[in-house]
Amino acid sequence: MIYREPARTAARRTRSIILAALVVVSAALIGIPVYRSLAPSSSSSPSSSSAVSPSDSRHDDHHGPPGEARPQAPRIDRALDRQTRSGVSVADGVVPDGVTVFDDEFPAVAKLDADLLGALRQAARDADDDGVEFFVNSGWRSPKYQEQLLREAISKYGSEKEAARWVSTPDTSAHVTGEAIDIGPSDATAWLSKHGADYGLCQIYRNEPWHYELRPEAINEGCPAMYADPTQDPRMQQ
Ligand SMILES: [Zn+2]
Repeated sequence: MIYREPARTAARRTRSIILAALVVVSAALIGIPVYRSLAPSSSSSPSSSSAVSPSDSRHDDHHGPPGEARPQAPRIDRALDRQTRSGVSVADGVVPDGVTVFDDEFPAVAKLDADLLGALRQAARDADDDGVEFFVNSGWRSPKYQEQLLREAISKYGSEKEAARWVSTPDTSAHVTGEAIDIGPSDATAWLSKHGADYGLCQIYRNEPWHYELRPEAINEGCPAMYADPTQDPRMQQ
C-alpha cells in the first residue's frame, strides 16, 4: 500500500504528460488546415484548385471591409479586387476595360450629369447602327482620383505647368462635376467628331480628341471653337 501510492501518482503524471502532448500535437494538426484556409487563394496549387469552386476563390480574393455590401456585378467585383493598390477604386470613378455609357453600375457612368448621359446614350445607339461602339475611358471622378491623376501627370510631364495642359485640378475639372467624358476607341471619337454636335456633344480641347462635354446650343449652332488645350480654357483660371 505504501509503495503503490507513489507509483499510481507517477503513472497519473505520465498520463497527464502524454495527454498534454496529444493536445499540443492535435492543435498543431488542426492548426495547419485552419491556417491554409485563411491563406489567399493564390497559394492554392493547381492540384487543389479543383476542390475550390470559382465563387469561393473569388470570395477569398475580396479584401474589402467586412461590413461592406458586396457588389453583384462580377466586373465590379474583379475591378474592386484590382484597384485598391493605388488607393482609388471603382467608387472613385476608376473605369475597368469594356465599360459602355449604358453601364449604370459604375459610378464613373452613373454620376455623370443626367443630360450629358442622356445625349451620350442617344448618340451611342445611333453610332451602334453604324457599327461603332462607345467605350468609357473616364467619366465622373472623385476629387481624390483627380488629385492622383494630377500627381501622376506632374511626375510624367516633369512640371505642374506642362501637366496642366493635360490634367485639371480637382477644383476645375469637368470630370469631377460629372460634366465630361473621355470616349474611345478612335472610331468612336471619329464618329462623335462628325455627328456629336447633333446631340449637343462637343470636343472642347484640340489636344484631347476623346474628351466630350455637353453644349446643348450646338444642336442649332454647331460646336463652339475649340481651345488648343485646357490652359486656354477660362474655367481653368481659378
Ligand atoms: Zn477628359
